[in-house]
Amino acid sequence: MERIKKAECPHLDRLKEISKFAKTVCEDCGFGADLRQCQTCGFISCCESHHAHDKEHFEKTGHPFIRPYRTNYDWLWCYQCKAYLD
Ligand SMILES: [Zn+2]
Ligand SMILES: [Zn+2]
Ligand SMILES: [Zn+2]
Repeated sequence: MERIKKAECPHLDRLKEISKFAKTVCEDCGFGADLRQCQTCGFISCCESHHAHDKEHFEKTGHPFIRPYRTNYDWLWCYQCKAYLD
């Protein structure tokens, strides 16, 4: 997986401060582990190891950023750059 500097991503206008932290399961299928959160609208989804609702949300909405949600690790991924942002 590629890593780029955050400043090199041209999609940062869609990176928002997310304040919705109430959900505990994927909003599409109810799965409750390895969750991801859209960093544009706060949508909670399962990851590509499960039902890939994170990717489906990107394909439906064009919201490019996800971040692990309620996990003990953290990163920021841009679907459009196909890279982790440092
Ligand atoms: Zn990007
Ligand atoms: Zn799901
Ligand atoms: Zn979204």
